[in-house]
Amino acid sequence: MSAMVARGGIDLGGTKIQAVVVDGRWKVLGQSRRPTPTEGGPEDVAAQMAESLQQAAREAGIATSALAAVGVGSPGEVDGATGVVSQARNLPGWEGAFELGRWLTKSLGAPTSVGNDVQVATDAEAQLGAGRDYGSLIGVFWGTGVGGGVILNGKPWLGRGSAGEIGHMVVKKGGARCTCGRRGCLEAYAGRAAMEIKARGEHDSGRHTSLFKIMKKHDRDRLTSGIWARALKAKDPLAERLIDRAVEALGAGIASAVNLLDVEAVIIGGGLGVRLGEPYARRIREAMTPHLFNDDRPPALHVAALGDLGGAIGAALLSASRDEAAGPKARPARKPRAAATA
Ligand SMILES: [Zn+2]
Repeated sequence: MSAMVARGGIDLGGTKIQAVVVDGRWKVLGQSRRPTPTEGGPEDVAAQMAESLQQAAREAGIATSALAAVGVGSPGEVDGATGVVSQARNLPGWEGAFELGRWLTKSLGAPTSVGNDVQVATDAEAQLGAGRDYGSLIGVFWGTGVGGGVILNGKPWLGRGSAGEIGHMVVKKGGARCTCGRRGCLEAYAGRAAMEIKARGEHDSGRHTSLFKIMKKHDRDRLTSGIWARALKAKDPLAERLIDRAVEALGAGIASAVNLLDVEAVIIGGGLGVRLGEPYARRIREAMTPHLFNDDRPPALHVAALGDLGGAIGAALLSASRDEAAGPKARPARKPRAAATA
């Protein structure tokens, strides 16, 4: 495998930074994960991103300056043309604008492009993962929040720049308060952050739950996907009730999106989606049924195949699509086997 076509991908999340180095067939040659800094500012976050990719590159036996290109999937408002990220509010001190692409290009010695985190993860599933066989799909990333990406006729649908906000579909008019400040959004019922606030409130008012005991036992300070999974396994009644509520909301929100777009497939990813896996995907499918207009022909529904690495692999894909825009000679092999899932 020629080192010339190795690429880097970095998924910048609110809790973790995941970096990968992939070859021309998207096989993962090296990977590295570390927590996202909770203090400081954009430069501190960018420095951790650079170190994470350097570590992945060392594992792959290649210098970052030898990478053909690097892609980043970032939260916040992303300007793909300039690599500027602004208002990434779940990252420390990142209310303003920061030239993330330029900073990383200089630090890594490889041209770096930046895209929206959810969109690159959707693209990765569409091209290499569970969505490979479909021309139109919705990616639903069930994690801290509920993100969404839309692919129509094989191409991302970005709208005027912010399409795919499935987490803010209204599933209950005048319902629970959402982190966006509105009421009744899907995310207010299914987002892990919202579920944790609800769980803490119920716990404080005396409701029995093992959720926080499990959290302490595993030395965490928040209810991660793993904590929810463990509590469900232990049949914790509060965890079961809140997850049931989340599944019902996901069913209504996703079915409404399907009624509008009539896509071929729905891909469920994100921390909770991947962790809870197929049994819960099946339950989401059942929860969609009563809301589907075309209920005798539901879309296919799959769990994201690239798992935790999907965002980072999608970021590497982004770096390739930018090359493609620059000239066909840099274009990588299309539709390879999904070696990245191995
Ligand atoms: Zn909302």
